[in-house]
Amino acid sequence: MFQSICLMMRESIHTNWHKTQEVYRDSESKQVYYFSMEFLLGRMVETNLLNMGLLSLYSETLESLGFDPEEVFHEEHDAGLGNGGLGRLAACFLDSLASLQLPGHGMGIRYKYGLFQQKVVNGYQVELPDYWLKDEYMWETKRSDKTIEVRFGGTVETSNENGSLKFHHHDYERVLAIPYDVPIVGYQNETVNTLRLWSAESTSNHFHFHSSRGHDYYHYLDYKRSVEKISEFLYPDDSYYEGKILRLKQQYFLVSAGLQSILQRFKKQFKELKCLPNHIVVQINDTHPSLIVPELMRLLIDEEGLDWDEAWDITQRTVAYTNHTTLSEALEKWPEDMIQSLFPRLYLIIKEINERFCQMLWFDYPELRDKIPEMAILSYNQIHMAHLAMVGSFSINGVAKLHTDILKNRVMKPFYTVFPKRFNNKTNGITHRRWLLNCNPELATVLSDTIGPNWIKEPHRLASLLPFADDAGLQESIAKVKHENKKRLAHYIKKHYDITIDDKSIVDVHIKRLHGYKRQLLNLFHIIHLYQLCLEQPTIEMTPRTFIFGAKAAPGYLFAKHVIKLINTVAEKVNHHPHVRDKVKVIFLENYQVSLAERIIPAADVSEQISTASKEASGTGNMKLMMNGALTIGTLDGANVEISELVGPNNIFTFGLTSEEVFAYQQRGDYRARDYYNNDRRLKSVMDLLVNQHFTNDDVEFKDIFYSLLSNNDEYFVLKDFDSYVHAHKLIEQSYHNQHEWLQKSIINIAHSGTFSSDRTIQEYAKDIWEIEPKKQS
Ligand SMILES: *Cc1c(COP(=O)(O)O)cnc(C)c1O
Repeated sequence: MFQSICLMMRESIHTNWHKTQEVYRDSESKQVYYFSMEFLLGRMVETNLLNMGLLSLYSETLESLGFDPEEVFHEEHDAGLGNGGLGRLAACFLDSLASLQLPGHGMGIRYKYGLFQQKVVNGYQVELPDYWLKDEYMWETKRSDKTIEVRFGGTVETSNENGSLKFHHHDYERVLAIPYDVPIVGYQNETVNTLRLWSAESTSNHFHFHSSRGHDYYHYLDYKRSVEKISEFLYPDDSYYEGKILRLKQQYFLVSAGLQSILQRFKKQFKELKCLPNHIVVQINDTHPSLIVPELMRLLIDEEGLDWDEAWDITQRTVAYTNHTTLSEALEKWPEDMIQSLFPRLYLIIKEINERFCQMLWFDYPELRDKIPEMAILSYNQIHMAHLAMVGSFSINGVAKLHTDILKNRVMKPFYTVFPKRFNNKTNGITHRRWLLNCNPELATVLSDTIGPNWIKEPHRLASLLPFADDAGLQESIAKVKHENKKRLAHYIKKHYDITIDDKSIVDVHIKRLHGYKRQLLNLFHIIHLYQLCLEQPTIEMTPRTFIFGAKAAPGYLFAKHVIKLINTVAEKVNHHPHVRDKVKVIFLENYQVSLAERIIPAADVSEQISTASKEASGTGNMKLMMNGALTIGTLDGANVEISELVGPNNIFTFGLTSEEVFAYQQRGDYRARDYYNNDRRLKSVMDLLVNQHFTNDDVEFKDIFYSLLSNNDEYFVLKDFDSYVHAHKLIEQSYHNQHEWLQKSIINIAHSGTFSSDRTIQEYAKDIWEIEPKKQS
């Protein structure tokens, strides 16, 4: 039934798909290509039906045929071609581009295995391969006719032809890039854009098999296997850089295949390469595709015969770069010799770009001369991808106001001095179609019943809810929807985990990748503190709470895996202790992914956004939860700052160090974690449980956590912020007690969440960076 539905949908999608491409071509529209190593799409069947305006028709028809629509739709396997926020952002952007009728497409990799499937065994994370293509992927169309050749390795020779230097690439390895196109359906507007995912295949063309040379065949098999590895799997590291050669090959594979296909189409329609920046803009999602800069230079110079200055002018006016992090462990730096041996021609181009950039600094910015080594693209035998991206593009944007300010005033400060006009902010967003309309239709109906349906096309109109924040009728309806959603989640948890949760409890969710800076540990310390309170005072009055975690840890990130084990160990104790279990429940939901997020978020009362200030560039989970009426407990970090400004201090629970205070501690170097352990009785007794065999008698991993806080001086200020976090949680409990007050805050949050629709974000990109316009489908 699932396949039948998809086949029916495909028919009508494909008609509009062809029409849209014709409209773009005939109107000579400028088109944007969003290059990203990750697209975390999740399931598409419901959102495609929703956007086609057919969701209720299909659901009702399925029911009348005796099928459960949810069961049928959930046959679709999540497309998990991304790690977390960065990949999900790319998917939300595609939805907004199509829904706003903008000519914008995605370029990505068709990994055979997406992000690993997580299982929890005895409290430990176990990773299983995510073979999402096991059943046919219903949305893709293979386009063998658009195959591109990508070249790796080899040597470069130069020759002098009529006085100009020419570069010849020899002995390279040839890899075929086969595009698989996925249609991106706009919201009830007949626009269908394209996500093009590239798959690596071998070619047997240049292999000559001789019966006398049997080893040729084995050579061929070796080559074939090494080529197919390129699009085999997604690297599972989030906000972390690992200098793996295969990852670098993946990046170039995407960049070269994507760019060549764009140039081929461009040359068919337009003659003058000089006009490229008038018709094409390439946005790169973080530095991962930043080889786009030297690759475009190579294509323009070696293949198209332009000279350096012309090629550089075109490149710089075509590429735009989005920065996603200031964490030093996430900034990509590739060893010079790796780049040189994999891409010998690009290496020469990068050296030349670097040479010219450093000379320009030397002559035009004498005050920055001592900064040249730290600003260079190539220094200490490393290639700094962020520097390459900034030098080679016309726009550099951060993803929330605070993050952009940190880029301008701290992390990228000297670049801001040189290129002040390039820096701009584009605060992230989420598609309200998936994250409200589709995942919480009952809430959407209540909102439309109150303010009419215009907010769906123009989400900023959710602000019309503000006058109703105090309305008893609306409050009651919203409370009812939340309660139904909690019951649904409770039912799911009962069924899959055999744990009973109180559907009247405060549902407090912490769902995101597991990372030190996201401080799941701080949340857990507060939970252990509540557990100890219950043990000390068995009759203590407490509003029952359910703490839900969902998080994958990078397989090599041991600290993060220890935290998962600790969450599960604490959960086991808390959920069974007779003095605690009716007041506190802790659930770790395994395999956090888009479809699981869609289940959890509508049921949430409290949204945990508690990163160490300055470390979370924006966050988007915060926006999804706010849009579904959850109240945020959060630090003044990333987009939390903007949420707080919009809703006002009474409608958010902020706590902890500010980013300025964090920077000041780091500068002075006078933070002493041990003092907080020694001086806060609660904190000491919480932490001592990690090492006194309270939880298990073999708890090496908890000792690791304990010592990372004390011996390594608590890099993420967990101990420093503990007191203020506990206090914020007390305020949450008080406020929840007064349901009228709580629901008022909840409505105010929903009312302001329209600002965080990715439609708003994409309109800003379209106007300020891309200079593209909507195209109506006649
Ligand atoms: C939104 C989302 C994220 C990002 O969450 P943050 O809280 O912003 O880190 C990660 N993973 C999935 C599956 C998501 O849907």
